[in-house]
Amino acid sequence: MTDPAYDCVSCGACCFSRHPRYLALLPYDASRSLPADSLFAEGGQTYVKFDCGHCVHLQLGDGKAVCGVYEDRPEACRAFRAGSFECGKARRANGILGANVRTPEGEAA
Ligand code: SF4
Ligand code: SF4
Repeated sequence: MTDPAYDCVSCGACCFSRHPRYLALLPYDASRSLPADSLFAEGGQTYVKFDCGHCVHLQLGDGKAVCGVYEDRPEACRAFRAGSFECGKARRANGILGANVRTPEGEAA
């Protein structure tokens, strides 16, 4: 069972990145429905846009971080496990709700 301390809706840390090519689609994602304007292609690879410092599909508000495409989220997001080493790394780097990478106005830096 997942530790309740790792409640993804209260966290969202792994959905933040300043790297524009943080989230690449994989072959499994071909059957998933993601809005075309949320994606971009480069070097033969398709990525989800992270222009604003976090995934374009991340909805922030009321102390929650919600994936706006949860049912169709990419394979890489499905494989990312709450409580894993990578999860802890993302939480330390980005902070809960992206606290370490957001400006005082609330936008991602
Ligand atoms: S960093 Fe971990 S707890 Fe936070 S949203 Fe990602 S998987 Fe969930
Ligand atoms: S698609 Fe959803 S789970 Fe994946 S990075 Fe974006 S907001 Fe997070």
